[in-house]
Amino acid sequence: MPKLHESRKRILVTGGAGFIGSHLCDRLLADGHEVVCADNLSTGTLLNIGHLTDNPGFAFLLHDVAEPLHVEVDEIYNLACPASPIHYQSDAVGTVKTAVLGAINVLDLAKRLRVPVLQASTSEVYGDPLVHPQTEDYRGNVNPIGPRACYDEGKRCAETLFFDYHRQHGVAIRIARIFNTYGPRLRHADGRVISNLIVQALGGAPLTIYGDGSQTRSFCFVSDMVEALVRLMSLRDDGAAPVNLGNPRECTMSELAQVILRETGSASTIAHLPLPEDDPRQRQPDIRRAGAVLGWAPSIDLEEGIRETVGYFRHHPELDRD
Ligand code: NAD
Ligand code: UDP
Repeated sequence: MPKLHESRKRILVTGGAGFIGSHLCDRLLADGHEVVCADNLSTGTLLNIGHLTDNPGFAFLLHDVAEPLHVEVDEIYNLACPASPIHYQSDAVGTVKTAVLGAINVLDLAKRLRVPVLQASTSEVYGDPLVHPQTEDYRGNVNPIGPRACYDEGKRCAETLFFDYHRQHGVAIRIARIFNTYGPRLRHADGRVISNLIVQALGGAPLTIYGDGSQTRSFCFVSDMVEALVRLMSLRDDGAAPVNLGNPRECTMSELAQVILRETGSASTIAHLPLPEDDPRQRQPDIRRAGAVLGWAPSIDLEEGIRETVGYFRHHPELDRD
């Protein structure tokens, strides 16, 4: 497929039909680039990119990143990977293949094309952290044989591969360690806490809190995350160290439930369910490096972001069939 305009970039987004990926596709197209979205639609959906199908600068490839990719592009964002614990654990071996073989395939493509490649890594590389807040030089506390390991170790191995391709083959890499991100286009059945609690609150069902609700997470709104990813890709340093991206406001799951009850006006009750194995106790990004190298900090606070996300779920009840 020839580029429409030589002066524009053509950018590959793997996982582009997913939650973050579809917002990234929107942003890159709005910036005037062409986008090739490669996705196997395992957790993503064409509904997320349906509004882009008539855009001549957009192309969709039904593709599994565990298989080699043959496209001609100027930049690569590698987001393909299930991100919700219920989904990545439902086919643990498949998750490792996606993370590891997917990394090898995008790195081989980047090496052949001599283009930069950005890896969507994760705060899960820190596991159940013993250092708080988490800085990029913390090496983490991951259980290598637990139910979350397919994702955590898969993403850790992907980071290893990115650095090895950089050192061995001179590939230009960027590694974003993404902390919990939320917003419109999370699927109703995604299984992560914010979509679960909003769907439950809007439906009048009890809000499921796992454990006693004292575990913490720090939630970043998706537009802030996309801005950070684009800035990270545009860095001129080709061997950039990993960068934590997230919103440092830390809250317990009980506090989150109260925010969601307030923003939905729901009278739902709280139902405590067992805490899943290896569920991290606390998580908060230290984002000083992102501030220094990207000039970035999140701008959407939790209440505002939840309000917008609630609006999305309220106005898209038809997506319930997810
Ligand atoms: P998502 O599940 O909505 O998106 C993942 C996308 O990747 C989906 O469209 C899915 O169909 C696709 N995919 C999965 N396996 C694939 C394969 N083998 N080949 C091709 N496509 C495949 O999740 P998300 O929240 O948008 O996450 C996007 C990326 O960001 C993931 O790599 C995830 O690990 C990372 N991340 C997300 C968060 C978060 O809180 N949202 C936090 C840390 C890291
Ligand atoms: N969680 C919860 N209720 C739910 C879903 C998740 O209390 O319905 C908890 C989960 O145990 C974890 C936190 O919310 O402590 C965040 O879970 P999520 O799956 O969103 O992300 P991750 O654990 O990968 O950070």
